[in-house]
Amino acid sequence: MGTFRIIKGDITKCRADAIVNAANPSLLGGGGVDGAIHRAAGPELLEECRTLNGCRPGEAKITKGYRLPADYVIHTPGPVYRGGNCGEEQILASCYRNSLKLAACYERNTVAFPSISTGIYGYPVSLAAKTAVREILTFLHTQSTVREVVMVCFDEETKKAYEAAYREIGQAEFVIRKAGEADLADIQKLMETTVAYMENPDWFYEDGKEFLETCVKEEENAGFAVIARTKQEGIPAGCFLVEIPGDVPYNLGNDLGFSKEQLLLSAHMDTAAVAPLYRGHHLQDRMMEVCEEEMKKRGMRYLLATVHPDNPYSLSNVQKRGYGIRATKEKYGRSLRHILCKEI
Ligand code: ADP
Repeated sequence: MGTFRIIKGDITKCRADAIVNAANPSLLGGGGVDGAIHRAAGPELLEECRTLNGCRPGEAKITKGYRLPADYVIHTPGPVYRGGNCGEEQILASCYRNSLKLAACYERNTVAFPSISTGIYGYPVSLAAKTAVREILTFLHTQSTVREVVMVCFDEETKKAYEAAYREIGQAEFVIRKAGEADLADIQKLMETTVAYMENPDWFYEDGKEFLETCVKEEENAGFAVIARTKQEGIPAGCFLVEIPGDVPYNLGNDLGFSKEQLLLSAHMDTAAVAPLYRGHHLQDRMMEVCEEEMKKRGMRYLLATVHPDNPYSLSNVQKRGYGIRATKEKYGRSLRHILCKEI
């Protein structure tokens, strides 16, 4: 993962590959950081901006940096704060996400941001900081082109707000517990987000909605699910599913030549999703541990898992927990999967 820094300073002096401008939708300059960037870049910047036909809030457009130390300027109009119920958070999140995507597209390695919308646009800085830090860290966790993001705060109060938001995410504590029907929508969303940010979606086998439902309802003892949420705000951070297939053809034990008795004592440690923001907290491992304990209580003997051979992250996580590769086969009508097993 790339690095994230928070500093106090003037963004117009920043030697980043690209600096971001908290622009207004006309892109023709304004007050605050926008005015400072235009003054420092010189009139050529305004000339190039005139050719861009403006920019909607949440979107981003790029120009050269002219007399600035930075090579490029990414212009993104933030939302005007109108109390928080007018989609401000989504627009602000899009500003960070779209600016970073544009930087990656132009193969820029270092990007500097000002605190978007917290000046003239009136967004409370403690709220804006949470959204900004969440989007920046998620982005840094999921790609490798942009390697450093610097948050350039113009004053001490702004810097403190961003530092607090960063601490809150980095030191988040989690509660892992059995999931119920009330968690279904959150689990589905977690899986969708995880797949959307995946390096190779083929690594992930998305179970059908029906299977998820049986897990959270624990119908006919068919399955089991846990969800990890942050302790303070209850934000869904990860989920893990276990299937107890019984004596059916798709039981992975069949691939390993298990007897009927062994099949009935097998559980599939199946699908895990960890929100990109909370990677690095060993959540997959911690959720698996909780699930394994539960399987032990239910008298299961064989814990089985499948992992795509090209997915080194999951493979090393699962192997570290004592699962060994017993076979490698085409599964789910798709490409190869290792079938791993742990006896408890
Ligand atoms: P917005 O219209 O998006 O609210 P502003 O420019 O009014 O944008 O303010 C955004 C933030 O940028 C504020 O925290 C302001 O203090 C800060 N700011 C102003 N000038 C600079 C600068 N030269 N470098 C970094 N930040 C700046």
